[in-house]
Amino acid sequence: MKLNERQMELINKQIRRLLASDSYYGKMYREMGVTEIHSQEDFEKLPFSSKDDLRNAYPLGIMAVPEEEIVRIHSSSGTTGKPVIIPYTAKDVDDWAIMFARCYKTAGIGKLDRIQITPGYGLWTAGIGFQLGAEKLGAMTIPMGPGNTEKQLQMMIDLQSTVITATSSYALLLAEEVSKRELKDKITLKKGVIGSERWGDKMRARIKNELGIQLYDIYGLTEIYGPGIGISCDAEDGIHYWDDYIYLEIIDPITGKPVPDGEEGEIVLTTLVKEGAPLLRFRTHDLSRIIPGKCPCGCEYPRIDIIKGRSDDMFKVRGVNMFPNQIEEILRSIPGVSSEYAIALGRDEETNKDVMMLTVEADYNYSFAEMSEAIREQIKSRIGVTPKVNIVPIGTLPRSEKKTKRVTDYREQGI
Ligand code: ZN
Repeated sequence: MKLNERQMELINKQIRRLLASDSYYGKMYREMGVTEIHSQEDFEKLPFSSKDDLRNAYPLGIMAVPEEEIVRIHSSSGTTGKPVIIPYTAKDVDDWAIMFARCYKTAGIGKLDRIQITPGYGLWTAGIGFQLGAEKLGAMTIPMGPGNTEKQLQMMIDLQSTVITATSSYALLLAEEVSKRELKDKITLKKGVIGSERWGDKMRARIKNELGIQLYDIYGLTEIYGPGIGISCDAEDGIHYWDDYIYLEIIDPITGKPVPDGEEGEIVLTTLVKEGAPLLRFRTHDLSRIIPGKCPCGCEYPRIDIIKGRSDDMFKVRGVNMFPNQIEEILRSIPGVSSEYAIALGRDEETNKDVMMLTVEADYNYSFAEMSEAIREQIKSRIGVTPKVNIVPIGTLPRSEKKTKRVTDYREQGI
């Protein structure tokens, strides 16, 4: 989706703000000779920004306004340790609330709703974002924060909450408790607004059915305000995002070049009006695609697909891009297979073709031969690559407390 005139004007304002500041990006742009942009091509020549920049600028190096204008900071840590700090002006906080209120409205939530907020309050942007958006909307908030399931259920029943906001895993836990305690007749929930992590259809269906609610995926990241820059609608066909606050590009994560609308790639975001910490072309590593055309719900804001995974996890076999979650989905559909698996990538010396070896744990009571045939067929038909499948007994693959490394690539080493 190309920049419109208004967006281009706003980006030039952001560039001027950065150039005039003593911030990390101000210095970088001055050194690089970044000036105004006049076309899509100019814009696409601007350097990407990344979480690494924000770590280098820790703690307040990206602050682009005088300190007296900053009213709050938020922080995200991520998996690699050193946190990043994002400073907000009063207008940034207000803009975020406006966007978040728009999310609630898009989900059909209004002033008479009672919104129970279970994400955490504090340094990260979750709880407080849900809170401010709901107050801006004019709904009644029940600011619970995470945990204490007993009290969550009591408040849900006594206050007759109509909306639950949660991570998908906490929503699932609540759904299970409601069903275990047979409370479904006592609750009056209608809608759930769920943070857009990657979550499976099975989980979605369980939350939906056990709580009897309609679910909405909310999108956002701390670096760009927080959750609330987009949300799915009743059409359940993608996430609307607010293109008056952010410009969204989809790029090929390997070449860095923008891909045509409709094609999958990595989301890159540019803030259009942010004051405290403007970011141009920020690489999110979230994978999605622009959904071309109008949404059946009637909302005019553009759409992206629900988040497919992370570009950091992508691997390529015989020219086909693959993600661990595609393999996970297939394995989940095959009875007897455990959730543990490992992928090794190598190259066949004779044919010089990529070889994908998938090792999967499975239950002894099933036929390993039939299982491996089923897995091979499914991956071949759904992804287009035929792997070699090796089935091992449950407990064979190494366990890790941290994020398990699923893919090992031996091709670079010439093995
Ligand atoms: Zn829609």
